Amino acid sequence: MRNRCWTSDQLDRRGLPHQDACPFCDQEEETLDHILQTCVFARTVWRTLCSALGKPQWSPTAQDTLKEWCVARASGAHKPKELRALLTLGLWELWKHINAIVLDGASPLLEVVVRCVIAEGRAWQQASLLKGEVGSTFELLVGWAGSE
Ligand SMILES: [Zn+2]
Repeated sequence: MRNRCWTSDQLDRRGLPHQDACPFCDQEEETLDHILQTCVFARTVWRTLCSALGKPQWSPTAQDTLKEWCVARASGAHKPKELRALLTLGLWELWKHINAIVLDGASPLLEVVVRCVIAEGRAWQQASLLKGEVGSTFELLVGWAGSE
């Protein structure tokens, strides 16, 4: 939310080495808003996660800003604490995936992000960070991912 992650635009401003384009799509500049929300890859991840939540209409568009989108999704009357945790989980797994691509040479794969969301989400459930209805979200994602 404070745009303090070390994405290419931040590295460039400090004169540090960085890749020229988004590691997910290789078409746009790597900014935090882009890699976590407006990139076609990120929007596909969010469409999958939001559909599993039963809220496909919550998927971000290319015009949304990350902050406005997160605030709009995490407010309102529908279990805001659990939704904020799920948003944080999705953002965290996208961030870890882009780091795996940049640092370890991984390939951008939706299935990998979804499986990581399931595994980390279940760990968060065991730690009581996610409760209630969100468990069914992971079951739907397991069905989508096709294996465990
Ligand atoms: Zn991109």
